[in-house]
Amino acid sequence: MYPWRGWPVQSARTMAAPVTECENCGHSDAELVEVQRVYLHPGDDDRPDRVDVVEVPEWWCVSCVTQYPCRPR
Ligand SMILES: [Zn+2]
Repeated sequence: MYPWRGWPVQSARTMAAPVTECENCGHSDAELVEVQRVYLHPGDDDRPDRVDVVEVPEWWCVSCVTQYPCRPR
């Protein structure tokens, strides 16, 4: 196994192309929003008991931003 196999191709791809697909649903969209994914843990009274914000930002399409819990950057 050669560790460098396939590396130039992947590198060129990641460097040339900015994110064009939603990282949540994979939908191609020109308008992506940088957000931090938020996990809500429902409590007893239907209100979030605990909220976890993922440190690493993701690019989401507008539809995901409105449908799933997240925090705009
Ligand atoms: Zn999406």
